[in-house]
Amino acid sequence: MTYRAPINDMLLALNHGAGLQAAVEAGHYGDFDGDITAAVLEEAGRFASDVLAPLNRIGDQHGIKLENRKVTTAPGWPDAYKRWSAAGWNAVSGPERFGGQGLPLAINAACTEIWSASNIAFGLCPLLTLSAIEALDAHGSDELKRIYLEKLVSGEWTGTMQLTEPQAGSDVGVLRTRAERAGDGSYRITGTKIFITYGDHDMTDNIVHFVLARLPDAPPGTKGISLFLIPKFLVNADGSLGARNDIYPSGVEHKLGMHASPTCTMTMGDNGGAIGYLIGEENRGMLCMFTMMNQARLGVGLEGVGIADRAYQQALAFAQERRQGRRAGKTGNGSDPIIVHPDVKRMLMQMRALTAAARTICYATAVALDIAARATDPKVRGEAAARGALLTPIAKAFSTDIGNEVASLGVQIHGGMGFIEETGAAQHARDARITPIYEGTNGIQSIDLVTRKLGSQGGAAVWSLLDELSQTVSQVEACNDPGFGTTGAKLRDAVASLERASRWLLERLGAAPNDALAGATPYLRLFGATLGGCKLAEEALAARALEGFGDPQRYVTLARFFAENIAVQAGALERTVIDSADAVNAADAVLLG
Ligand SMILES: Cc1cc2nc3c(=O)[nH]c(=O)nc-3n(C[C@H](O)[C@H](O)[C@H](O)COP(=O)(O)OP(=O)(O)OC[C@H]3O[C@@H](n4cnc5c(N)ncnc54)[C@H](O)[C@@H]3O)c2cc1C
Repeated sequence: MTYRAPINDMLLALNHGAGLQAAVEAGHYGDFDGDITAAVLEEAGRFASDVLAPLNRIGDQHGIKLENRKVTTAPGWPDAYKRWSAAGWNAVSGPERFGGQGLPLAINAACTEIWSASNIAFGLCPLLTLSAIEALDAHGSDELKRIYLEKLVSGEWTGTMQLTEPQAGSDVGVLRTRAERAGDGSYRITGTKIFITYGDHDMTDNIVHFVLARLPDAPPGTKGISLFLIPKFLVNADGSLGARNDIYPSGVEHKLGMHASPTCTMTMGDNGGAIGYLIGEENRGMLCMFTMMNQARLGVGLEGVGIADRAYQQALAFAQERRQGRRAGKTGNGSDPIIVHPDVKRMLMQMRALTAAARTICYATAVALDIAARATDPKVRGEAAARGALLTPIAKAFSTDIGNEVASLGVQIHGGMGFIEETGAAQHARDARITPIYEGTNGIQSIDLVTRKLGSQGGAAVWSLLDELSQTVSQVEACNDPGFGTTGAKLRDAVASLERASRWLLERLGAAPNDALAGATPYLRLFGATLGGCKLAEEALAARALEGFGDPQRYVTLARFFAENIAVQAGALERTVIDSADAVNAADAVLLG
């Protein structure tokens, strides 16, 4: 089963749901020509269908190998990576002064969805490189940028992100990897990192590791962490590769999914310490890492969208072929494809609606981050930065939860064949499972949403978004299209639920923080369901006014399905946030009694 990028849906989401077109028209993207978006996505879709999708199963079955401290990827992967980077895909949104194309992050977000949908284990490698580029560009010295950025932007070298240690997962502040000042401006790093994605591989000549470590005189906790750039091979003054640095893969994990993506234990210090170079200031590494993680969190959200869309496409094709039973009311012999059954239709609609909503939330996050970086007016930049910060945990957690739900429904639609590996439906479900865990678990994202994002400036970013969502609801109500059914009323209720839950949480944050923390996960879901519903309605309104999207009523029906089946859960989620905190706080009696 191959993959076809849903270009029309992506363009509608990008330009209208996420607001790229309005931002271009407002001048926030300078001289960027929005007309090229479709061409870029079509080309990316072609590459993904022709080159990456066929390698997805091979990678899953073959996995990776670690021998003699070297990781080998699955057959065809190094060649595919070289073709992919040679075609310029790594450089789409890279800074132009280092050879990048300087296109909007939003366009790269759509491309990331495409790479993830066609081959999520492949797409994960550049996803981390892009985060590394962002951190180095924002915080690195001119010298480090000169040596490393061009090769990272082109994709000639890849990047890794190394936080996790056995005792330091979500709580990165307790990491122990040690950095000593070498006296020549460089550092010697010793320690062990675990779970490092693409910590070693054979797709490029060099790998640039971004490693968090602690100086001997550093204060405890996150205030004592510094970020170091550690190349696999040192780089000579003329840019050629020099000696092998003292950082090696010492083990690889055997995993539920993502078999083709090496997950390495990295050991530094067997030969006196890996040579590392400081990024930013000593003890300010978390600041740099946040730049890197925010980008990666959006990227992982897009993995959720991508895997969901792939699972949906596969389930849709299967449902049109597999014959069982007859359409209700039909007489005579012969069976019908299962897509005639309302319960199967419901599952497919659920898959499609959830995927579309998560897509737009991710793209909207990218547009906000673009405006924050590109707009000339500091006020516009500041508001966009607050919007991007608010949306990032939702993009990550809502979309990856959706990725899992949709991949699971994909298995369900295949019936017994879904549980059998040869259909590929099972691989999507296995591969999706890591996405709510890495880059900060979804629980940690929810806490970030409630404590930092909602909690910032009395919830200002939330209130301004709620105003916009209310306007969308009013437009749906005013348009009087019977195709929307009860969409307007359902979304109005959802927005009201989100507002009440937000006010309650804000109040509890100071007075009873455990109540707020207990409600964080249902709150994030409430946010995603409300925002996603309003965004799909906005897209449907736009499709009605546009040419080139075929029958706009299909977008109206999709928005209606979301509002009447998913956004309606907002009321129950509001009650969960508010009413269940007491039971959660009393849980010890049940769990430990
Ligand atoms: C395939 C794979 C690839 C990875 N790639 C990388 C990589 O490239 N680089 C890297 O540095 N790391 C990587 N990781 C590590 C990943 O980021 C961590 O696994 C993740 O951050 C969670 O940490 P943990 O596993 O220690 O779980 P823990 O932190 O032990 O969490 C266990 C559970 O407790 C919850 N929890 C923990 N603390 C709190 C809290 N304060 N409040 C509420 N709930 C809490 C979590 O949400 C989770 O449900 C990877 C992991 C895997 C499996």
